[in-house]
Amino acid sequence: MHICLLDIDGTLILTGSAGHAAFAETLAHEFGIAEMNGDVSFAGRSDRAIVIDLFRHHGIDPSVENWQRFCRSYLGRLRSILAARKGRVLPGVEQLLNALSSRGDVALGLLTGNIREGARHKLSHYGLWHWFPFGGFGDEHTERCDIAAAALAAAKTHLNGSHPSNGSQSAHGEVVVIGDTLHDITCARSIGARCVAVATGHSSIDDLRVGEPDIAVETLEDIDAVVAMFPRD
Ligand SMILES: [Mg+2]
Repeated sequence: MHICLLDIDGTLILTGSAGHAAFAETLAHEFGIAEMNGDVSFAGRSDRAIVIDLFRHHGIDPSVENWQRFCRSYLGRLRSILAARKGRVLPGVEQLLNALSSRGDVALGLLTGNIREGARHKLSHYGLWHWFPFGGFGDEHTERCDIAAAALAAAKTHLNGSHPSNGSQSAHGEVVVIGDTLHDITCARSIGARCVAVATGHSSIDDLRVGEPDIAVETLEDIDAVVAMFPRD
């Protein structure tokens, strides 16, 4: 079985910056920060890492209690902000998920900086959550490479659960990460995965090629090129 790990924001969906808005609203209402610092980078980073940076910048104690308080408030706000914003599923996504799933030899999972419940809210809103039975998320890890390792471990657990007769160490085929930032390419390499870079986020295809992905595509409508990353047995 091959494993395909997909990023969310800029790869599967654009939310009209709903996540960013929910972060700003949470800081304002929960922590009294009138204006969220604009220098903290969001793209390709984990929610945990972004919040630690924001807490430090605004002089908030980056304690576990404050992180949990942030998450509760953020999740409470995200759903209504998603509904109010004009987001969309990106071109080719549903066709690609159908094509990979229908092969029967590719397991689909997530590799995202979103906290798990945030990922669920976002993808449920756009009708995509059901495609992904496992994943690595940004609840605990600040480094995307650690999320990638967690996603791969979750994939192996999922595959072993599907094929218990294989024992605890069933072999898997190709691992491919699909994402829209240079961080996605770096974390793919850290787990020995191949990488598809897609220019539907903030990075142009030329920017992404700097990271030397296996392939770079303008959109996931380039389905044949992506499917070809998974060799037939
Ligand atoms: Mg992304």
